[in-house]
Amino acid sequence: MSEGNPVVELAKRRGFFLQSAGAYGGVSGFYTFGPEGAALKQNIEDTWRERFTIQEGNMEVDAPTVMPEPVFEASGHLDGFDDMLVECPECGDSHRADHVVEDNTDIEDAESMAIERVEEIVAEYELTCPTCGAGLAGQAIQQFNLMFETNIGPGSSSPGYLRPETAQGIFVEFPQLAEYARNQLPFGVTQIGRAYRNEISPRKSLLRVREFTQAELELFIDPEEDEPDLESVEDVTAPFYPVSEQEAEDGELIETTVGEVFEDGIVDDPWIAYYLGIAKRWYESIGVDMDRFRFRQHLPGELAHYAADCWDAEAEVDGDWIELAGFAYRGDYDLSKHAAHSDEEFTIFKQYDEPITVERPTVDPDMSYLGPEFGGDAAAVADALDSLAERDPDAFRDAQADDGVVRVEVEGQEYTVPIEKVGFEIEEVTESGEHITPHVVEPSLGIDRALYTVLDHSYREDEVDGETRRVLELPPEVAPRTVGVFPLMDRDGLAERAREIVDRLRDAGLAVTYDDSGAIGRRYRRQDEVGTPFCVTVDYETLGEGDDPSLEGTVTVRERDTTEQRRVAISGLSETLTALRDG
Ligand code: ATP
Repeated sequence: MSEGNPVVELAKRRGFFLQSAGAYGGVSGFYTFGPEGAALKQNIEDTWRERFTIQEGNMEVDAPTVMPEPVFEASGHLDGFDDMLVECPECGDSHRADHVVEDNTDIEDAESMAIERVEEIVAEYELTCPTCGAGLAGQAIQQFNLMFETNIGPGSSSPGYLRPETAQGIFVEFPQLAEYARNQLPFGVTQIGRAYRNEISPRKSLLRVREFTQAELELFIDPEEDEPDLESVEDVTAPFYPVSEQEAEDGELIETTVGEVFEDGIVDDPWIAYYLGIAKRWYESIGVDMDRFRFRQHLPGELAHYAADCWDAEAEVDGDWIELAGFAYRGDYDLSKHAAHSDEEFTIFKQYDEPITVERPTVDPDMSYLGPEFGGDAAAVADALDSLAERDPDAFRDAQADDGVVRVEVEGQEYTVPIEKVGFEIEEVTESGEHITPHVVEPSLGIDRALYTVLDHSYREDEVDGETRRVLELPPEVAPRTVGVFPLMDRDGLAERAREIVDRLRDAGLAVTYDDSGAIGRRYRRQDEVGTPFCVTVDYETLGEGDDPSLEGTVTVRERDTTEQRRVAISGLSETLTALRDG
């Protein structure tokens, strides 16, 4: 994809992105966004924020990128965030074993296979090293953890990790975030930020890198009560690729509406269906070609350890389908894990409509009986009785009915306590609610992959005035700059007038670039290549020194996609351009 690819070539030449630290040979998987790329990325993030945070009424946070080890012990990343690595015995290069398999056989789901099976396939197909061509059969395949490790503070006693996803920064703050949301479900928390994965073989330019930006939404819901506003997206159409079609011999994409896929049970969670609808609209608005876009359901072996159901948004780039985003139903996995590994409660108090009366068993053991002569740790036995009462009140009822003794175990030793020494009672209490662990629905999007796809899908070559023109047909909303302003020539007061217009347009909040060098046609081409949707030219007519005096105070506005030009009065120029930008 990188060698000779016109989009990658243009991206480097015109300042969208380039491999970073090139002066030192560059490091795979790290990119610097240049002036055009940084502006495009910011605009894409702004539209995401507008759609997923502001319009949805969610809260946004900005958590650290380094987090201490216990966070990732709890989240499961320390143990399970691995890829399969195979090292070449000849050149020593490391490769992702599942990618070697997928790239060289017709097997498509090696990622979800057991290591032993991948080893067998490497041997069976006599697969070779992608770098030097040496045979890989017989090479051991290892699990390689993708997290970058560091130390927090001097010494090595406090390990930390660069976050491999932004989500954990939200989950660990859940108790406080729930307070901000006044303990009312559902509530959503978003975050746009860097994530880091020590990918074994970064490739395909921005599509698989080691430092990237994620835009994630964690929506906390009460699974028994909360429902999305599906009606607002039910008419959104998209191509869906469910498991059934992927497994069928002649399986194909089903072009249908969000409402229908939910009704037909193809997408069985209403929240996932809802976010597929929202996301499809967003991807379309930023310039992803909907003829090269689909929603694909995860195959059973592909599901992440926490996910009950998962769909990906995918785009076709250079003949391959790549994952742009994942939409997962994470259940109560994350909050339960953090509750189990920390001293905090990761629950919400759910108020009942009406208070209810419940039976609550209690024990009040006779501590003098459980004292030294009883021969054990009295407090530990009392605790064991207490927790038995909570877990299994019937054990006491049965004891009353049977032999009159209760049996509890403390550190492997069984104690037999007469029921009359236990002080067991059932009380009736009124409860106004209960603590529940919310479930999580997560749309998780990658900004770099979205940006690359938008560049790839908006790139065109056509012919203007007998010359090949390269143009990025970016939607005006995300284009790095909305307007290019040019004086016809750098003399006779034209440049001064043009600069005044630049100031005026910038004051009106438009992103403007000024260019006075070279022939006007060349300046148009330069703006076409970076996707600037409108160019304004100041000429002698503007100054009232041309053939038509009625054109004084007007400029030429030229549209990128049609190359059509029209005269617009300077007095209404910023309004006209703002309206054109906002569609
Ligand atoms: P893949 O299977 O392609 O490695 P993933 O399923 O591990 O991706 P998620 O953990 O679901 O990815 O991350 C959510 C999003 O973050 C992805 O859809 C993608 O857009 C982005 N992302 C993940 N890894 C990378 C990477 N190495 N480079 C660029 N973007 C990435």
